[in-house]
Amino acid sequence: MLVNSTVIAGKGAETATGRSAEEVEQIRTVLRTRYEDLNAEYEDAVAENQKLRLVEIGDAAGDDQADSGSKTAERDAATSLLRTLLDRRMQAELALQRLEDGTYGYCDGCANPIPVARLEVFPSATTCVSCKSNRERRAG
Ligand SMILES: [Zn+2]
Repeated sequence: MLVNSTVIAGKGAETATGRSAEEVEQIRTVLRTRYEDLNAEYEDAVAENQKLRLVEIGDAAGDDQADSGSKTAERDAATSLLRTLLDRRMQAELALQRLEDGTYGYCDGCANPIPVARLEVFPSATTCVSCKSNRERRAG
């Protein structure tokens, strides 16, 4: 019996990424959903922030010291939330770009594709589970 091993070995070459088209599509859906969620959250936060500023402008005349202090804190919190959301949205966008480039979802440690199930839970994961626990063992 002759088994043509070159055909079998060459089988994976159809996708340059080492993933099936279905898997890539699945990851794309996960990342898009995440991006859209973050985008919606960001827009909500922007609207909230604008409301805060309008209230502030309306109130400014009668403010005492303590009042304007708590408003500053509130505004700082809102601003830092905006930054966080913007940053996370950018991460999702970069992940999508890297997915199109075929560089997203590979382990930094062993260069194997990170399982889709893991990416669904941790879209920003850069290592597979075993490399991650190896790293933590070394670090700890
Ligand atoms: Zn790994």
